[in-house]
Amino acid sequence: MAMPEDVKTQPDFPIPDTMKAWVLGDPGQLSLVDKPVPVPGRAEVLVRIDAIAVCATDLEIIYHGPPALIEGGDPFNKGFTPGHEYMGTVVAQGPGVDEYKVGDRVTVEIHAGCGQCKRCREGMYTACHNYGMNYGDVNKGHRANGFTTDGGFCEYQVNHINTLVHVADEMSDEEATLVVTAGTSLYGLTELGGLVAGESVVVSGPGPIGLLGVAVAKAMGAQPVILTGTRDNRLEIGKKLGADHVVNVRNEDAVEAVRRLTDGKGVDYVLECSGATNGLNDAAKMVNRGGKICLAAFPQEEVPVDVAYLVRNNIYVYGILPEALRYAKDRVEDAIKVVVKNEHAMGRKAVAAE
Ligand SMILES: [Zn+2]
Ligand SMILES: [Zn+2]
Repeated sequence: MAMPEDVKTQPDFPIPDTMKAWVLGDPGQLSLVDKPVPVPGRAEVLVRIDAIAVCATDLEIIYHGPPALIEGGDPFNKGFTPGHEYMGTVVAQGPGVDEYKVGDRVTVEIHAGCGQCKRCREGMYTACHNYGMNYGDVNKGHRANGFTTDGGFCEYQVNHINTLVHVADEMSDEEATLVVTAGTSLYGLTELGGLVAGESVVVSGPGPIGLLGVAVAKAMGAQPVILTGTRDNRLEIGKKLGADHVVNVRNEDAVEAVRRLTDGKGVDYVLECSGATNGLNDAAKMVNRGGKICLAAFPQEEVPVDVAYLVRNNIYVYGILPEALRYAKDRVEDAIKVVVKNEHAMGRKAVAAE
């Protein structure tokens, strides 16, 4: 089936009727099948997927189900395609789209809110009250590709234009897949009230979000940026990304180290990305009075929290949930991120260049 007449395409970017897509069967079972290429609606484009990163959350979904929510339930045996950290090239513009053109390189964020609930109208579309409502008679148009709607482990996907950003020519496909992760760190710092240059930050936990948190905090002018963690190789990467100090918590007490590095004052912000059991209590001891803590990861079990300490010191605690954030499990051969390049798409590019 060709694209409908009101969808703009270009001969240089031919679109097949079907594509290869990975779909989730029983827990842990992915199979490669043929699916129809999806058709973009109003305010949507069709993206040819050129590269995708594999996230710990993808593995969580594939093996356990949540936080994916397909037709109100678990994602198994519903023909669901996971994957949410992808980038690619626009190959078709849906009706009304002139913000992006065929041939534009784009990377995606996850959430397209319904646009009509209280939270969407406040701009908080990641907390859409119609989350997961995109089917049957509760179709509110909400999309979170790779969570509630089909994601990027395939050749083509439809994205709302509000979920896209242009990719600069000098940025590689692989780098562009990291935008979601960097955006998570940036969102964390924004939710804390917006960092002012010269304010001090601790990032605990050098997983993908923590490491990019260091880079984002430094880019925003934070001073100093202190990274804490347990693995020296990750802490070294943190230094390259701009950490002024790194603390290996296996060798020294993180709270004491932060106090020492800040002349006993503590820092203005802690971005807690470790999910450690004592993460919040330690963070409270690292911030100064009136300081702010952003929880971008959480422990698996319930943990006691010293609420009196938080209250006495006027400490603010924020939780963020751009995607379900877990302590990164992607420790296979110590990979920070695994990115898959779409060979088929590259072959297609070669054909187009002939
Ligand atoms: Zn992710
Ligand atoms: Zn909404």
